Order: sequence, then structure tokens, then C-alpha cells
Amino acid sequence: MSLISDNLQAVLAHIHAYALESGRDPGQVDLLAVSKTFGADAVLEAAAAGQRRFGENYLQEALDKMQAVHAARPVLASPLEWHFIGPIQSNKTRPIAEHFAWVHSVDREKIARRLSEQRPDHLPALNICLQVNISGEESKSGVLPAEALAVAQQIAGLPRLNLRGLMAVPEASDDEHQQRQAFRQLKELSQSIQAAGIALDTLSMGMSSDMHAAIAEGSTMVRVGTAIFGSRNYAK
Ligand SMILES: *Cc1c(COP(=O)(O)O)cnc(C)c1O
Repeated sequence: MSLISDNLQAVLAHIHAYALESGRDPGQVDLLAVSKTFGADAVLEAAAAGQRRFGENYLQEALDKMQAVHAARPVLASPLEWHFIGPIQSNKTRPIAEHFAWVHSVDREKIARRLSEQRPDHLPALNICLQVNISGEESKSGVLPAEALAVAQQIAGLPRLNLRGLMAVPEASDDEHQQRQAFRQLKELSQSIQAAGIALDTLSMGMSSDMHAAIAEGSTMVRVGTAIFGSRNYAK
């Protein structure tokens, strides 16, 4: 077995164990493999080991990779589901609307409106998570918690989008108590939006270093890169 396939099995085993430990159904926690900075070969290895969902942050890199993956192994590539999780410039929404199944990083109405207008008719509605700046860090993207309901209502009214839930990247912390606090805030925000009549089924939270806390607080999709593919080299 390859290293990637070993790592993938280990991450899936952790997800399973963490879900059971929290009294949750392991089937309710999906794994998004974050393949940014890694090549088509890495995606193909993970796909051959059974991984279907892949997350990407950089548009051009992602488009090139999708094409390379399809060209190399069309049968393996066709069931793959691509999720965009990086910052979105408004002049780059069209290729995102055309090539991805999910976008986790929507943080304003303008971006959502453009994605809805540009989603091709032959594709199902684009799945959306509203990104929330849960720690209120100035440098972070995401709507502030106080604005989340209003933006969620706007997104829910757009015809070619399917608002699925909330996403957050909390302030990094080694302290599991702090990690859980941020994830709990996101979960509570999701509950309050649902109480206002908007159906949500997704909490996109948890990465390699805080998966345990995220699953304990109700994550339904962990976005894991390093623990599957190794550490990233941005210099390349
Ligand atoms: C890079 C990235 C991840 C994966 O992080 P790891 O620590 O490598 O698991 C998850 N979510 C987002 C938004 C990212 O940019």
C-alpha cells in the first residue's frame, strides 16, 4: 500500500473512533481530502484507495489538476466530487460555478448571487456552505456571526444554489478546550439559523490538527490535508 492510502485509512479510522466516542453515527461524518499543493498523482492515489471528495483552495491549480486527473484515469476520475474551499474573488466565480460540486467559502451575498447566475443549467444546484469568521479574527475571511442569519437568508433564496450549512476555520490553538469552544459556537449558530426556518445539514469544520474537537462538537465534514498527503510545500 502507498503512504497516501495508509494515511487515508488511518484518518478514516480516527473519524470512526471519534464519532463513536461522542455517541455519534460514524456515517454522519464525511471526509473531504484537501489536496491543495499536491499533484494529480496524489489525488489518483487517494481515489484508487476509495476517496471521492477532494477540496481545493486555488482555482487555477484546481482546474489544471481536475483536467490532469481526468486525462490520466477517466474512469477513476468521473465519480470524484470537487469542493472549493479557498478565498473567492468575484471575477473568478464562473469557473467555480462550472467545475465544482460544493463551495465552502462563500462569505458574501455578491459572490453567492454570481455563483447562482453562473451555475450551468445542466448541473444540479451548487452546494454551498457559508463561511463564518467564528473567532472574529480581523485577518480571516467569513461573515461575522451576527451577520450570518441575514446572509444565509439571502443565499437560501437563490435558485441555483443549495445552502447546506456553515464552515469555519477557527483561530489555531493546541488547546482542545479552546478548539471545542469555537466549534460549539459554530454549531450553535447553525442551530439558531435552523430555528429561523432555514434547513441546514452540514457543519464543515475540523482539519488535521483539530478533527477530534470538531467531531465531538458535531462536525459533519472534516477537511483534512496534511494527515493524508503530508506537509505542504508552498514554495514549489
Ligand atoms: C488547507 C486547508 C485545510 C486542510 O488543513 P490541514 O491542516 O492540512 O488538514 C482545511 N480547510 C481549509 C479551508 C484549508 O485551507
